[in-house]
Amino acid sequence: RLVLGIETSCDDTGAAVLDETGTILGESLYSQNEVHLRTGGIIPTVAQQLHRESIEVVVHEALERSGVTPSQLSAVATTVKPGLALSLGIGLAFSQKFVRKHNILFIPIHHMEAHALTIRMLQPVPFPFLVLLVSGGHSLLAVARGIDDFLLLGYMLDEAPGDTLDKVARRLSLTKHPDCSTLSGGQAIELLARSGDRRKFPFRTPMGRIYDCCFSFAGLRSQITMSIIKKEAEEGIEQGTLLSCVNDIAAGTQHTVAVHLAKRTHRAILFCKENGLLPSDNPILVVSGGVASNQYICKALTVITEKTGLRLLCPPPRFCTDNGVMIAWNGIERLKEGRGILSPSEDVCYEPK
Ligand code: ATP
Ligand code: FE
Repeated sequence: RLVLGIETSCDDTGAAVLDETGTILGESLYSQNEVHLRTGGIIPTVAQQLHRESIEVVVHEALERSGVTPSQLSAVATTVKPGLALSLGIGLAFSQKFVRKHNILFIPIHHMEAHALTIRMLQPVPFPFLVLLVSGGHSLLAVARGIDDFLLLGYMLDEAPGDTLDKVARRLSLTKHPDCSTLSGGQAIELLARSGDRRKFPFRTPMGRIYDCCFSFAGLRSQITMSIIKKEAEEGIEQGTLLSCVNDIAAGTQHTVAVHLAKRTHRAILFCKENGLLPSDNPILVVSGGVASNQYICKALTVITEKTGLRLLCPPPRFCTDNGVMIAWNGIERLKEGRGILSPSEDVCYEPK
């Protein structure tokens, strides 16, 4: 069984061919990050145009590298939600044309389920397990009980942690920083934070008195922005030109994001334990999504898992951020269980959210 996975939900055009053991036979990934860094954020019509320009090349490259022809594929798996409607539309239209032309099965994929299940491609992780997904558009805690069975315990109330990190990085003009010009906001903050002192910017952890598993980052971003404005005023400099303490701000930001994520995850673990939602033998926390590539955040989560007796599993950074591999893997999992598979002529109704 061979599956071609296609990802275009946001700003990465990805494709990969996998076999049923999870071996990557061929892969290709075009990131639009540099373009969006220049325009100061993702403009959906620009992202759509870039996907349109690269989708054929990316799929062709993945197939060519794998040595697999379209007729040898068992199915094409493509992200259909959630994401930017204009971006998703390119992957979906391409895939439907492709499966009809080559008469192969089509498997619509939920992008967040793919993030959650990526770890199972790398090692055996039995259901149920607790999963924390932290990325550019989401923050959620769920118990994964099956490939399409997730019990949602907590979700984001305003903005996602990756979005917060990207916006703070933009406010600090980190693309102009010599070490960070091509990095995503999250990567830039992680890099600068290494040589910063977080105690100089002790931001308040969000939702300290709200006892659930949801997340909020908008208030934290306001706190950070206010501190930046104050510093700029003190130094009498223009907006976005602060240099003196960007490392400390990055360290304070990263630390507070890590503490918030760790505290909510701790609550979720206790809830799972009280309600018997995880196995008593070898309970597992999986962390995935772009923000999970952050080593500091993973360390903070390790403190919690060690305290509560869980094992923390996190895919390596290249599988945490968006890629075609995780979509193909989700297709393999669905194919194995015979779930959510469409014939080539069936239309897909998708809602982007
Ligand atoms: P979603 O998965 O919610 O649809 P997305 O697909 O845009 O959103 P991902 O590709 O999963 O998001 O992750 C991108 C996000 O991860 C960006 O916001 C980026 O800043 C963040 N990120 C990437 N690397 C790091 C890092 N080392 N530390 C913190 N954040 C990071
Ligand atoms: Fe993603």
